[in-house]
Amino acid sequence: MISIAIDGPAGAGKSSICRRLARELNFLHVDTGALYRAVGLFVLRRGGDPADPRSVLPLLPRIRLDLQFADGEQRILLDGEDVSEAIRSPEASCASSAVSALPEVRAFLLEQQRSLARQHNVIMDGRDIGTVVLPDATVKIYLTADAEVRARRRWLEQRQKGVEEPYEQVLAAVRLRDYQDSHREVAPMRRAPDAWLCDSSALDFEETVAVLLRYIREKTGVKG
Ligand code: C5P
Repeated sequence: MISIAIDGPAGAGKSSICRRLARELNFLHVDTGALYRAVGLFVLRRGGDPADPRSVLPLLPRIRLDLQFADGEQRILLDGEDVSEAIRSPEASCASSAVSALPEVRAFLLEQQRSLARQHNVIMDGRDIGTVVLPDATVKIYLTADAEVRARRRWLEQRQKGVEEPYEQVLAAVRLRDYQDSHREVAPMRRAPDAWLCDSSALDFEETVAVLLRYIREKTGVKG
C-alpha cells in the first residue's frame, strides 16, 4: 500500500487540497481532523469540558465513531449520526483542539487511522501523520502558509457562506490553534525531519495542487 502523509497547521488548505489530490491519484482521502472534531463535539453535547481530562476520559469508551467513504468523500458518523457538517462549527473546532492535547484521546484514535492505511492507498491529512501515525509513510509533506494568509482565506470562505466575522478575530483563532497544536506535550504539530516543506503562501489552490502532484508522482511513480 502507498501512504501519503500531509501535515500542517489549520487553514493551510490541507483538506480541500488532499481531497483533490486523492481524486487525481485515485487514493482514499482520510481527513483525521474530523475524528478529533467528532470527539470534541461529543464532549460538548454531553455538557463536558473538552479541556478537562476528568470530564473527557470517562466519555471515551462511550464514543462510537465510523468513517465512511463514498465517491471519494469522507463522512463521519457519531453513534450512527452523520455529523460531517456539525463538526465544522467554531465551537467544535475549539473543542477538537482541546481534546486532541489529551494522550488518551490520541491513543483512542490511533489504531483507526493506521488500519485505514493498511487497507487502502491513502492520502492522510492531519498534524502528526508523518511523525506518529504513519512514520513509514511513502511520502511525507508539510503544507503550510503564513498565519495572515491562512486567516484571510478562512475569512473569505466564511464570508462566502454568509458568516461575517471580523478578520482580526479569525486571525486570533488561527494563531491560538497554531499555538495549542504545536505546544501540546503529546504528538505536537511539527514537520517530520523527512517531510518535504511546501509553503503555499504565494500559491493559489490550483498551483498548490500542481506542485504537490508533481512531487508525489515523482516519489511514488503513481500516474493516477
Ligand atoms: O484539521 P482540522 O482543523 O480539522 O483538525 C481539528 C483539530 O484536531 C486540530 O486543531 C488539531 O488540534 C487536531 N488534530 C490533531 N491531529 C491530527 C488532526 C487534527 O491533533 N492528526
